[in-house]
Amino acid sequence: MNPQSKHIYRFGGNVIEGNGSMREILGGKGAGLAEMSALGVPVPAGFTISTDVCRHYLEHGALPRGLNEELADAILWLEETSGRRFNDPANPLMVSVRSGAPISMPGMMDTILNVGLNRACVTGLAARSGSERFALDCLCRLMQMLGTVVLEVPKHDFDKAMKAARAAQGGDEGATLSVESLTSIAMAFEKIVEEATQQPFPSEPQLQVNMAVLAVFDSWQSDRARCYRALNDIPEEMGTAVTLQSMVFGNRGETSGTGVGFTRNPSTGEPTLFGEFLTNAQGEDIVAGVRTPWPISELAEIMPKLHEELREVVMRLERHYRDVQDFEFTFEEGKLFLLQTRSAKRSALAAVRNAVEMAEEGLISRREAIERVKPSSLNEILAPQLDLSAAPRELTRGLAASPGAAAGRIALSSEMAVKMVQDGSPVMLVTEETSAEDIHGMAVCSGFLTGRGGATSHAAVVARGMGKCCVTGAKEIAIDHASRTAVIGGESFKEGSWLTVDGSTGLVYAGRLPVSSAAGSNAYLNRLLALAAEESDCVVRANADTPEDARISRSLSAAGIGLCRTEHMFFSPERLVHMRSMILASNTEERTAALERLLPMQQADFEEIFRQMSPLAVTIRLLDPPLHEFLPSIEEIDAELLHARRDENWDAAIVWATMRERLKELTESNPMMGHRGCRLSLTYPEILEMQVRAVLQAACKVAGEGFDPKPEIMVPLVASEQEMRVLAAMIRKTAAELLEEVGQTPQYTLGTMIELPRAAVCAASIAKHVDFVSFGTNDLTQMTFGFSRDDARSYIDSYIEQGILAADPFLTIDQEGVGQLMQMAIKAVRAVNLRIKIGVCGEHAGDPESIRFFTRIGVDYVSCSPSRLPVAQLAVAQSNIANRSARLAQVSAALTNAQEEASQPIALAS
Ligand code: ADP
Ligand code: MG
Ligand code: MG
Repeated sequence: MNPQSKHIYRFGGNVIEGNGSMREILGGKGAGLAEMSALGVPVPAGFTISTDVCRHYLEHGALPRGLNEELADAILWLEETSGRRFNDPANPLMVSVRSGAPISMPGMMDTILNVGLNRACVTGLAARSGSERFALDCLCRLMQMLGTVVLEVPKHDFDKAMKAARAAQGGDEGATLSVESLTSIAMAFEKIVEEATQQPFPSEPQLQVNMAVLAVFDSWQSDRARCYRALNDIPEEMGTAVTLQSMVFGNRGETSGTGVGFTRNPSTGEPTLFGEFLTNAQGEDIVAGVRTPWPISELAEIMPKLHEELREVVMRLERHYRDVQDFEFTFEEGKLFLLQTRSAKRSALAAVRNAVEMAEEGLISRREAIERVKPSSLNEILAPQLDLSAAPRELTRGLAASPGAAAGRIALSSEMAVKMVQDGSPVMLVTEETSAEDIHGMAVCSGFLTGRGGATSHAAVVARGMGKCCVTGAKEIAIDHASRTAVIGGESFKEGSWLTVDGSTGLVYAGRLPVSSAAGSNAYLNRLLALAAEESDCVVRANADTPEDARISRSLSAAGIGLCRTEHMFFSPERLVHMRSMILASNTEERTAALERLLPMQQADFEEIFRQMSPLAVTIRLLDPPLHEFLPSIEEIDAELLHARRDENWDAAIVWATMRERLKELTESNPMMGHRGCRLSLTYPEILEMQVRAVLQAACKVAGEGFDPKPEIMVPLVASEQEMRVLAAMIRKTAAELLEEVGQTPQYTLGTMIELPRAAVCAASIAKHVDFVSFGTNDLTQMTFGFSRDDARSYIDSYIEQGILAADPFLTIDQEGVGQLMQMAIKAVRAVNLRIKIGVCGEHAGDPESIRFFTRIGVDYVSCSPSRLPVAQLAVAQSNIANRSARLAQVSAALTNAQEEASQPIALAS
C-alpha cells in the first residue's frame, strides 16, 4: 500500500505503525498511544484512523475509497492480536472508540466504551469472566453511551430508568447493582433507544463501530467545537482522528479499577505522584463523581505491587517526554494498562518548580528550564490572590490594570485616603481618575479604582510602579463629592464602606473579601531567575523613585535604577510648600531661595538611594511634569480663597489669589506637549542647577562613607541638538562649580531620553553630547501616534475590535512605526559612539513581547517597575536565548551555502 492511501495506524501487540511525532495525523491521543507502545508500556492494542479521513469526510460527505477494506483488515488484526472476535459469544471483542484532535479540544465526541457487545455475547462474556453482573454492567454502559452520544437520546431518560431500578433494589446510591437490577436496566435502556429512534438498538458490532466513527467526525462540526476553535485560532481544516482500542476492564471486581494522575503535583509542583482511582469502575466514573475516588497513595496500601509498577511506568514516561505527564490508567484483575499520557497543565507555581527541579535532576537543560515558564504567568505567583469561595457579588468590571487584589475602605480623594490610613484602616482610593498630585494618597492606600483611563493612564502606571492592585476605566462608576458617595454598578456606597478590587481580572466586589498573600515562598522562582541571569546579555533595571523602591528593586536583583523620577519627591506636604513657593516666585531670587530649601531634602533622598544601590548605576531624570501639576486644583483654590476672605485673613487671601493667577498662567491646552521636560530647565535654569547639585553632592557624601555611587543624570523630552548642547554645558558647569567649592566631583555620566519623534530622527547629532540614551517609549508612542495616553482608551479599544490595531500600542510596542524609529535611532547613535549605552524605560520594558523586540534591536538594558522585574528578567533571558539560536542558525546556513558554492564545479566562462 502506498503511504498516501494509508489511513489506519496500528499500535500494541507486535505492530507499531505510528509514533509520538505524528500528532497531526494521529491526534494527540493516538500519537501518545503509539509512542507508549513503542516504549514497551502496557497499552491495550488498537488502531487510529487518521485525521485525513476526517478531512475527506467533511469535504465529500463520504469516507475515502478503500477505507472500509482497510478498517476490516485492522479489525481482523485486532481480533488476532487480542484473541477475541466481534460477535463471538464465547469470547467477544469489545473496543473503545475515542476521539483525538492534534490539539486537545473540548466539544469533541465523548469516548464510547464496550463497543461490540450485544445480548448474544453477554452470556459468553459472563461465563468467561465468571461474572454475570460484570457482563451486564458492560452492556448497560454501552447502551447508555451509544444511546446518548451517537443516537442523541436524552441522557435524562437513561438516568430516570437507572434511578427507578435502584429504588426497586433498595439500599444506598453507591451500592452495587444486583444481576436482577442490571437485567431490568438493560431491558429498559433497550426500550428507551427503540422509542426514541424508532429503530431497534444496533446490536451488530460493525454497525456500532461505523456509527461511532462517523459520530466522532460529525462532532468536529458541533457548535461547541467550532466555537472553541474560533476562540483559540485552531484551523477548521485540522480535523480529528479516531482511535479504536480493545477494552480492558476496570469494572471486573475489587482487584480491577481505573484512575487518573500526574507525575508531579500540578498545583504545587511537588515531585510526588498525584492522582485518584476507584476500584471496580470503568472509564469516566472518576469524573462522574457518583463515588468518591481515593488518592493514589492509597493504592500503595492496597495493591503495593501495582502501585510500584504504575510509578515506574509513568516516571519512565516523564523521562521519555522530559516533562510532567498527565496520565490515565486501568487495571484489570491486578494487571496494569496505560490508556493516555500527555504533558500536564499546571499552575504557574508548579511550572516554576517543575522547571527548576527538572533542570537540577538533569532531565532538561538550564536553557529549557528558562524557556518552559511563560513570563506573564509569574504575575499569578507574585500577586496576592482573592478568595472567591464565598461566591461574592460582582459590582462591575473595569480594566485589569495592575495585578493583585486588595480590600479597603472607600476614600474618594487622596486627602481623605491619607486621613483614613492614619486612623488605621486599609483604604481603597476610588476616583474618576488620578493625576500626579494624587501620589500621596496613592502611596498610602491598598489599591485604586478609577472610572476613566486606560491601561497606561496615570493610575495604572503608578499602580504597577508601586506594585499595588488597580482597576481603571470602570465605566459604571459615578462619584458624588457633595454627598461623599460613590455609585458603583448601580449601587451606592458611602465613603468608608468596604470594597474589594481584583486588579488581575478587573472585577470589583462589594464588601471585604479575604485576600491571600503571594502563594508560598518564592524560593523556586529565585532559583529560576538565577538561571535566567546567567543567560542574559541585556540587563534589567528598575524604575524606582524612592529609597524604599530602591530597596525593593535591589532585593529583586535589579541591575540598577534606569529611571528615578525626581518629581515624585516633591509631593509630600512639607516639600510641596516649597515647591509651590518656587512656582509662585515672581523673580529668580525668590525662586532660588525656595529651591535652596528643597535641595537638602532631595539630596537626602538621593543619598539613601545611592547607598541602597551602590555600586550599581542610578539614572536620575531631571524634573519632567508641567509645573501646574504641583498646584492645587482651581476648585480647591477658590474654596480656600472664599475661606480666607470670610475669615478676613488677608495675607492668606493674597497668597491664594496669587496662586489662582499663577495657575491660570500655567494652564495649557495640551500639557503633555507643553512647558515640561527640558523646557523647564532651559527656562528656569535654577531648577536644573539645584537638582544637579543635589545629585552630585549626595554622591560625594556617600562616596565619603565608603559607598560607590554611580549617578547618571538624564534630561527628559529633548527634541534637538541645540537643546542638548546647552543643557550639557549647564550640567557640566554646575559640576565644575562644585569641584571649585568643595574640591571634588564624583564620577557621573550624562544622558538624554529619546521620547520625541524628532529626537529619534536627529539622534545622531544629539548623541554627540551624551554618554547614554534611554527610550521613553510611553511618550514616544504617544507622540508618534498622536494618541493621548490618558484619553485614547475609547478609540484604541474600537481600533482593536476592528482589527485596525493588533494590540494596544501603549502596552506592546508598535514595531512597525515606533519600533522603526527606535531602530533608526539606535543605528545612528551607535555610528556616532559605539560604546554609548542604550536603554528603554517606558512601560513596555515590562512587557515580554516588547522585550523580545528590544533585545533584538540591540538595547543594553530595559528598566521597568519593581513589581515587573521577575517577568522582565525571565523574558530577557528567553529573548537572548532565542536571538542567539536565530543567529547561530543564520551563521550555519551561510556556512552551508559557502560550502556548497565551493564544491560547485567552476562554470566555464562563455
Ligand atoms: P477523554 O478525552 O474524555 O479523556 P478518553 O478517550 O481518554 O476520553 O476516554 C475516556 C475514559 O475511558 C478514560 O477514563 C479512559 O481511561 C477510558 N478508556 C478509554 N479507552 C479504554 C479502553 N480501551 N479500555 C478501558 N478504558 C478505556
Ligand atoms: Mg482521557
Ligand atoms: Mg516622558
